[in-house]
Amino acid sequence: MGELVFSSSATVYGWPKEVPCTEEFPLCAVNPYGRTKLFIEEICRDIYRSDSEWSIILLRYFNPVGAHSSGYIGEDPRGIPNNLMPFVQQVAVGRRPALTVFGNDYKTKDGTGVRDYIHVVDLADGHIAALRKLFDCKLGCEVYNLGTGKGTSVLEMVAAFEKASGKKIPLVMAGRRPGDAEIVYASTEKAERELNWKAKYGIEEMCRDQWNWASKNPYGYGSPDSTS
Ligand code: UDP
Repeated sequence: MGELVFSSSATVYGWPKEVPCTEEFPLCAVNPYGRTKLFIEEICRDIYRSDSEWSIILLRYFNPVGAHSSGYIGEDPRGIPNNLMPFVQQVAVGRRPALTVFGNDYKTKDGTGVRDYIHVVDLADGHIAALRKLFDCKLGCEVYNLGTGKGTSVLEMVAAFEKASGKKIPLVMAGRRPGDAEIVYASTEKAERELNWKAKYGIEEMCRDQWNWASKNPYGYGSPDSTS
């Protein structure tokens, strides 16, 4: 028996048929990363079924971005970033020439993919709220979305980052990335109701803090010759 918080991901919703995604939506793995999250969620549910003294919270993260407002802590992926915002950041500091936009023919406001971006500091607060809940009461195995409940397109995110940084982000339009969902954003009701937690920051603050980190640390934790 014990207490456990597992960092899961909205990727377990696969390609949701509708939005916002509630915690009761059907789950599926659409890529190897998603499979690892789904498997571990299942193992957590098995652990609780085998011993009801466990208290487990599965947190499904949407798209964490931004950085600590100090500018000392931020994301620094190795190699070519897979995720949108680390890539945008590297274009802004001159490490890459342009952002490739994966698909502009989705059925969304501007044709580009829509996601629920959440400030990493809000995400951290969500964990504190989860820990409070875990130590407050006997819980079972519960799952909560950590998102803002708002959908933002790739082009909207790029525009917000350009505004925050004063840098132009050159774009290259390309085809859809295999496996990508069209629109994913969270229902935040359960976390608001049961964890008493709600994201405070919007995309403006996410971009402001990410640019602060990026401009102070254009090569992340490394040096110009230690990264590619
Ligand atoms: N995206 C993009 N160019 C990139 C990386 C991502 O256009 O270089 C798009 C992607 O197609 C998706 C959104 O940005 O619509 C968020 O992608 P990310 O990989 O950050 O998150 P995920 O798709 O896993 O939610």
